[in-house]
Amino acid sequence: MKKHKHIYRGVTGSPGIGIGVARIFYFGIPEIPVSYVSETSIKDEIKRFHDAVEEALKEVSSIESQVNRDMGEDLLMFMSIQKAILKDTELIKQTENLIKKYRFSAEYSLKEVAKKYQNIILSKTTPFMKERLTDVKDAIARVIFILMGEKPKSIVEAPPETVVVTHDLPPSEAVLLSPERIKGIVCEVGGITSHTALIARALDIPAVVGVKKIVNYIEDETDIIVDGNRGHVIVSPTEKTKEYYRNEKIKFEEKRHRLILIAEKEPFTADGKYIDVSANIEFSYEVETAKKYGAKGIGLFRTEYLFLTRRSIPTEEEQFHIYKYVAESFKPNPVIIRTLDIGGDKVIPGYHEANPFLGWRGIRFSLDNPFLFKSQIKAIMRAALHGNVKMMVPMVSTIEEVRKLKKIIRETTRELEEKGIKFDKEFEIGIMIEVPSAVLLADKLGEMVNFFSIGSNDLTQYTLAIDRGSEMVSSLYNHLHPAVLKLIKMTVESAHRNNIWIGVCGEIAADPWAIPILVGLGIDELSMNPASIPLVKKIIQEIDTRELKPLIEKTLGKTTPTEVKRLLRNFYRKRYPSLFELIKNG
Ligand code: PEP
Ligand code: MG
Repeated sequence: MKKHKHIYRGVTGSPGIGIGVARIFYFGIPEIPVSYVSETSIKDEIKRFHDAVEEALKEVSSIESQVNRDMGEDLLMFMSIQKAILKDTELIKQTENLIKKYRFSAEYSLKEVAKKYQNIILSKTTPFMKERLTDVKDAIARVIFILMGEKPKSIVEAPPETVVVTHDLPPSEAVLLSPERIKGIVCEVGGITSHTALIARALDIPAVVGVKKIVNYIEDETDIIVDGNRGHVIVSPTEKTKEYYRNEKIKFEEKRHRLILIAEKEPFTADGKYIDVSANIEFSYEVETAKKYGAKGIGLFRTEYLFLTRRSIPTEEEQFHIYKYVAESFKPNPVIIRTLDIGGDKVIPGYHEANPFLGWRGIRFSLDNPFLFKSQIKAIMRAALHGNVKMMVPMVSTIEEVRKLKKIIRETTRELEEKGIKFDKEFEIGIMIEVPSAVLLADKLGEMVNFFSIGSNDLTQYTLAIDRGSEMVSSLYNHLHPAVLKLIKMTVESAHRNNIWIGVCGEIAADPWAIPILVGLGIDELSMNPASIPLVKKIIQEIDTRELKPLIEKTLGKTTPTEVKRLLRNFYRKRYPSLFELIKNG
């Protein structure tokens, strides 16, 4: 029996209260210490290995039959690849050999063979082969867990009322989350901007992330409450605690409902300034959530999930249909499609580097893979015929990158024209400002593009030199840091000097405390996770921009995030007491 205390603390990944049953999910190949079997049990060990492979095959078939076909062909393909790996004669033979020759246990032998496979795959040059690494790992982990007597699970197998408890949620699993069955998520790693948190918020599933070592302390099937508002996880709650949280849940949902009613009103400030409020999405199926919460359009469509959650790279045609659907859903309002931002924490399958956040990421990766980049640009240009589509490029840090981008767009235009394919030539092109060098070059960059969007998540990370996903330094990560706010101010000024509009699509746009600063600095558009929209709209509707100038001056005179927060608390308390009541606990 695992020993556990009652409350575990993490950070809020997605607000709301989830009450359900903890189900632990292990993803990836676990650590296995070397162990041996006796000479006389070698035969039995080989049989145990074969039985486990058989069992894994049955499980894959069973998942396959449960897959909702609407979720895409990719998942089915993923399952058939897993089957092929489990039937691979070479893999079976090599594992048997290790058991026979060295008397290693079946799980250790299989893990050693997996290592060999991993090196072979990593030495292949085609991205398709490299992608297979994830498949191999997933299939092998399934067998290893069976050998260890722990049932491997996938999110698709989660019964109703499940609270997913896991170390980390890979994108290929996150895509299977269903708000009907999954009542909450608890992850050992991650922070507010981790991609698990982003997806949970998009789907309105309460989540607490960064709960260290929780998997070691919780038993499967234990009653559990996820308090996504406070970042707490309550294990084995008493009936009284459950009752308290049932009430909290009702209160939270009523509040959310009231906010949704507010969201229907346009975001004009008290003195009549209009601020565009849009949504960030990762999947096309989030369109309805975004609309429900009152998004005018899509300010950030993160397309990397289309690539990461599939077993093969999506074709131009597949991408076109997805982008077209989102564009049509919001027509005539804008939909900003961001080109692939792979790298950083969104790992390129089969590619490893010491500092991925400083490495092959975003536009750097896209420019080095022109075939992939062009097919995405073509899909975006074609979708632009069906709505108000804009294209945005992430991770820009130099002028040359934008020059190269424009050259690629010219080539793409020519290629589409030559083939007689219809597309829109007039769509806007913007860049994300999320690296300090881009801020310093913003006057020049502003001459080259139609708009800027500040990625405060990365801008904070790169300005303060704090890995946005690292638990050890998460307490230092703060987008209210005066250094970050100064860079935002500089970027707004550069944009407006160039007569282009500027938005913010990082988490700061959803932070109620930051809204008066962003609006006061002159930001034209705010884009955020859909659930945050109503509160942000309400704040915009009540504030008067004429009162913000002195606030901005004082803010920029501060030297620490704590001082900035204190100033903002006083500002709200004195000037907008009813808003203060709404946000004071956040
Ligand atoms: C950002 O960096 O603020 C941003 C919006 O992009 P992402 O979170 O996808 O890196
Ligand atoms: Mg970013």
